[in-house]
Amino acid sequence: MIEARTRSRVPAGCSGCGVLSDWTHSRYVRHLADAALGGRPVRIDLSVRRLYCENPSCPKVTFAEQVPRLTVRYQRRTPLLQHLVESVGVVLAGRGGARMLRVMNVGLSRCTVLAQLMRMPLPPLVTPRVLGWGRLRVLRRHLRHPPGRCHHPPPAHTLGRTRCRTAQPMAPRASRSRDRLP
Ligand SMILES: [Zn+2]
Repeated sequence: MIEARTRSRVPAGCSGCGVLSDWTHSRYVRHLADAALGGRPVRIDLSVRRLYCENPSCPKVTFAEQVPRLTVRYQRRTPLLQHLVESVGVVLAGRGGARMLRVMNVGLSRCTVLAQLMRMPLPPLVTPRVLGWGRLRVLRRHLRHPPGRCHHPPPAHTLGRTRCRTAQPMAPRASRSRDRLP
């Protein structure tokens, strides 16, 4: 266990408006879990200030100070440990993630690992240029037989799905094989 205390008289930014303030309202202790050190779990008892916001137009009267790279609002884990839990959750999901974290001396249930995974923001959506092999084939045919040059344009609703060939009825397979016979 590590005990720490933030410095007094150092201004901190309001979480509502960002205006700096060093007018202390009170102090309280936050219990933060950190990544294991030397094979042992680490807990940081950090004394932080609650400060008055000095901006009269800000809706917040008081706010809790945050320590960069150590505390996040409403979070009981340090950013380092949170990143570790999320990374293990992405790779191994619930049960496997909980087992792997237990090896790292981080005791979390599979439900907690899954909950952390679900809280993660989704990556931005990127529209692929080619949707799949089927769409790629259609695109190739379309390039091979551009609508301007092709004499047999495909119907609009098929968008190049039909091959450019003359309309000749195919002979049945049985009759063709019979023709080859002496
Ligand atoms: Zn404010």
